[in-house]
Amino acid sequence: MPKVKAKKEKNQPGAKAVQTLRGFKDILPAEQPYWSYIRKLAESFAKGYGFSVIEPPILEEAGLFARAIGKQTDIVEKEMFSFVDQGEGAVVLRPEATASIARAYITHGMVSLPQPVKLYYWGPMFRRERPQSGRQRQFHQFGFEILGDSSPVIDAQIIALVHNFYQQIGLEQFSLQVNSLGCPNCRQIYVKELTNYYRSKRRLLCEDCKQRLAKNPLRLLDCKKPSCQFLKAEAPQIIDWLDDDCKNHFMKVVEYLDELNISYKLNPQLVRGLDYYTRTVFEVWPKEVKEGAQSALAGGGRYDGLIELLGGRDTPAAGAAIGVERTISQLKQQEKQIPLETAPDVFLAQIGDQAKIKALLLFEQLRQEDIQAAENFAKDSLKIQLELANKLKVKYALILGQKEVMDGTILIRDMESGVQEVVDFKKTVLELKKKLARLNGGAV
Ligand code: AMP
Repeated sequence: MPKVKAKKEKNQPGAKAVQTLRGFKDILPAEQPYWSYIRKLAESFAKGYGFSVIEPPILEEAGLFARAIGKQTDIVEKEMFSFVDQGEGAVVLRPEATASIARAYITHGMVSLPQPVKLYYWGPMFRRERPQSGRQRQFHQFGFEILGDSSPVIDAQIIALVHNFYQQIGLEQFSLQVNSLGCPNCRQIYVKELTNYYRSKRRLLCEDCKQRLAKNPLRLLDCKKPSCQFLKAEAPQIIDWLDDDCKNHFMKVVEYLDELNISYKLNPQLVRGLDYYTRTVFEVWPKEVKEGAQSALAGGGRYDGLIELLGGRDTPAAGAAIGVERTISQLKQQEKQIPLETAPDVFLAQIGDQAKIKALLLFEQLRQEDIQAAENFAKDSLKIQLELANKLKVKYALILGQKEVMDGTILIRDMESGVQEVVDFKKTVLELKKKLARLNGGAV
């Protein structure tokens, strides 16, 4: 019988290691201080500006986004992670959260709450884009939505919130770009004008833009290809086609921004990549915008028709989404210091079996008393444990050896001076609390 060569098993040494999918990333512990800094600040902004938290699901009916974002947008046409779930039909991993929140507003009858309803969210979003710097397939956004009011002061408040967020994290020279897309009526007239302009330049357009011209001409202004930029610069500007109501609305928004001393740049080509926007749109750009790059840190605007489009009552609304990864990347590029995670209060070292048991119990007691103790119970060498304590920069180490177990004591070692004090084991927490309070300048 011919010998059959055994196939290499997947888990044999030398088998190819499993990787994350393209465009997906692990967020490692070393990154977490940035994440918790941004998240805490986002939550404090939400609280400060009076937003309640909402957590819509990550998986939604595919139709929600096709209806909300627009069938002829890049997101819906090419970038959704969609699949057919047995019995549920076509579902997608959400590419953004505004549509879900508009849906939730309808689902839960929020129209009967005092208006406007102010909602804040945080979470992962999924877009099947070509991964590159600043563009992932899973990324995180947090956002603020104000539903149920049409006044321009709402637009200004959302813009101010996002602007103040970037100011508070200390980003320098970010720029705020604003524009108005008008209402469906004035936009329709403008789009006709835009189409005429681009038709005459059709042969100069990139292949994607040729398609956009046929399907959704406004998206031509969204093209990031360098070759299409000069055509964009010459294109008719929507601001010249706004009707009186839309013009007055926009004037009011910028007037509020002026009053709040918020600097902004009027950008007539800013259209955003989602179809649901009406009137005000805005983006925050970093210090340097590379040509052709996807670099907006945050964006948002008014979406007065969305709730009605999804089957609710005619309800005006506005909101913004802030990209977490791009914001963190800017913090790093600009070498911004962020608050460090707090170090543990104390290191608990043990030598010998009896001491280990006592130390395990003491550790639980410390945790219940809110004293953050670091440890490495798997190690028996005092030298190694104290080296770790040094690395963690703790002020004190608690040391339990055979002798201390026999005597009913514990050593409290000042890690800076090396001075060790023998303390009655029963008074460990009390003595430690006193020392920590002294350290923090509190009452003893
Ligand atoms: P949008 O929902 O398209 O208005 O995007 C709002 C913000 O989310 C952007 O300004 C980015 O900071 C972030 N963002 C959008 N798409 C991606 C992506 N593929 N990768 C990383 N961040 C993204």
